[in-house]
Amino acid sequence: MARDERGVTPQSEDFSSWYNELVTKAQLAERGPVKGTMVIRPYGYRIWELLQAELDQRIKDTGHDNAYFPLLIPESYLKREAEHVEGFAPELAVVTHAGGKELEEPLIVRPTSETLIGEMMAKWVSSYRDLPLLLNQWANVVRWELRPRLFVRTTEFLWQEGHTAHLDEADAMRETRQMLDVYAEVARDIAAMPIVPGEKTAGERFAGAVKTFSIEGMMRDGKALQAGTSHYLGTNFASAFGIQYLSSTGQQELCHTTSWGMSTRMIGGVIMTHGDDKGLVLPPKIAPYQVVIVPITRGESADEVQEAARDLARRLKEAGIRAHVDDRPHVSPGFKFNDWEMRGVPLRLEIGPRDLAAGTALLARRLGPEGKTAIGLDAAPETLSAALDAFQAFLLQRATDFRESRTATVNSWPEFTQVVADGWARALHCGQPSCEDDIKAETAATPRCIPSEAPAESGTCVRCNAPSAYGKRVLFGRAY
Ligand SMILES: [Zn+2]
Repeated sequence: MARDERGVTPQSEDFSSWYNELVTKAQLAERGPVKGTMVIRPYGYRIWELLQAELDQRIKDTGHDNAYFPLLIPESYLKREAEHVEGFAPELAVVTHAGGKELEEPLIVRPTSETLIGEMMAKWVSSYRDLPLLLNQWANVVRWELRPRLFVRTTEFLWQEGHTAHLDEADAMRETRQMLDVYAEVARDIAAMPIVPGEKTAGERFAGAVKTFSIEGMMRDGKALQAGTSHYLGTNFASAFGIQYLSSTGQQELCHTTSWGMSTRMIGGVIMTHGDDKGLVLPPKIAPYQVVIVPITRGESADEVQEAARDLARRLKEAGIRAHVDDRPHVSPGFKFNDWEMRGVPLRLEIGPRDLAAGTALLARRLGPEGKTAIGLDAAPETLSAALDAFQAFLLQRATDFRESRTATVNSWPEFTQVVADGWARALHCGQPSCEDDIKAETAATPRCIPSEAPAESGTCVRCNAPSAYGKRVLFGRAY
């Protein structure tokens, strides 16, 4: 089969076509019949399950309990928090008819669940002894999308949303930062995405939040992807829903609440952080198959080679490695190599009669050092385990180097416009929303975050020369 039938448009030619073709050809997802919806295919869903398991474990380890809340929310609930409803109004899907008649009160398909969970929290909290209340839900949400892109922006997506209630601001802020750290760890250590954690400026805050924090990853076209957010909601939702407690001194006090979410958008982030012109590249920790074994069978030794491949896969599985034997008889080894490259499998092993006689197999990596290495079959579980760890570390380093090469500290407007054309700029900014709008209109760049780890610095705004805000530089870039 010709290469161009199965390959993808090069990234450098058209990044957006590259992405869309890859998502289809790697069999991750397809468009659903309703605009903006997504069918996640088994291979894509397995990646999500692996990521989800890692995140769920960390959510539980930090003391949260999973629960489930309804999909439909009374319209009146959303209206109780003014900023929240205003922010979400354009994206809402509203149910007006059910059971064959018009409903007295329209129902909202949840875009997020602060309101409904807030109503429940008000019932469940009465004393300071009930706090903190630490909840998480794994669910789907709907936000009507006019410019959909699979995984990155879909009308319906899967996520977890954490919702917590606390005694005071200090405890709620500790929680908000803790969950940002959890997201940063999952992104870095599991998805090999070297994200930048930081606080959002006022213009980029979640509707109804006092403070919003995010992790920002750089995609291979130099754009930013917000990969997880954590919000300190102050007492905004507590006062709207009556989430209050009797303090140890007998006073009625409002709770301070938080919410935080990470979604299937992360898969879009993985694709665009690591993928190349041959297709997807998966970090081993979330690869459905970490090692694919391709038996090279000819003539009379075919059975023997197949048997050796299956035996090797069994030993790898026992060692905790997700191994798969591609024994499809009707396709050539060359086809299989291209196919697994497109689907991002980290390591590939070839076994032929000659390798088998020598007690070896040929190892090829999806990225990194070119060429194949002969490895001993006896020690294969240990060798491949180490090779997977090395591949995971290699991807993180490669993505970090790429981000650094596309990020610059800028002090003038001409430098700023040049850098944000294909990367990120660290710049001093006045903090005025009108100045942010002006920058966006001129360059399409927006403030991604005020990085947590940026050193203290002040001066004048890169755009308008007014005194800088925040006491540190802001990270600007174009974003998904
Ligand atoms: Zn300014």
